[in-house]
Amino acid sequence: MARKKIIAGNWKMNMTPTEAKALCETLKPLVDNPDVDVVYCVPAIDLVPVSEAIQGTNVNLGAENMYFEEKGAFTGEISPAMLADVGVKYVVLGHSERRGYFGETSEDVNKKILKALEYGIVPIMCCGESLEQREQGVTMDFIRQQVKVGYMGVTADQAKGTVIAYEPIWAIGTGRTASNEQAEEVCKAIRETIAEIYDSDTAEAIRIQYGGSMNAKNCKELLAMPDIDGGLIGGASLKPDFGVIVNYNK
Ligand code: PEP
Repeated sequence: MARKKIIAGNWKMNMTPTEAKALCETLKPLVDNPDVDVVYCVPAIDLVPVSEAIQGTNVNLGAENMYFEEKGAFTGEISPAMLADVGVKYVVLGHSERRGYFGETSEDVNKKILKALEYGIVPIMCCGESLEQREQGVTMDFIRQQVKVGYMGVTADQAKGTVIAYEPIWAIGTGRTASNEQAEEVCKAIRETIAEIYDSDTAEAIRIQYGGSMNAKNCKELLAMPDIDGGLIGGASLKPDFGVIVNYNK
């Protein structure tokens, strides 16, 4: 069965609640495509206003991070129960900015994935190499490791419903996109890694996004690649361009 495309916006640390509501209004008429699962992954403070603003639309609510403990003395963190309670369906985990600036390890990401699944929230696990790693020829080894550690203890049935975002760090927010072939090569290797961990059914079911300066101009070609099942979009998710990406097949 063909995998349904999933286009998710990662708003990062942008949009006050007031701005968030206005952005939802602007995007509302632009993001209606029944062929695509659309997600807005928004800052924690925007979750409630955005959940209200997307009522009655095809847009799903997503978070940008989550802690792996249930509750307690973890000042500043957000629990999976809190996310589930406000209607969060997806959560971005292990974004390279979290790994790079906040020291998140693949082991942390693994704990978060397991916890999100327990609460019925779909993890979007990010992986991706630095420019240095690409130049040293260790991209595939590095990404396989990120995927294998990230998915420790996740069952095949659970893995089928999850999403992996391949995001080369050198392409994020730089305007420098991976070529269609570079993106496809790694997304295919991720699918092969999932087949190695589980089986071919799981590998065929899991959805793999590309992220890294995807925009209204380059989305069509990237999304036509056989192993690219969607996009995780940073900068372009804050603009009407996001609607063009969602409607890439029109
Ligand atoms: C991201 O942060 O996940 C991302 C892909 O950002 P951008 O589209 O701005 O490169």
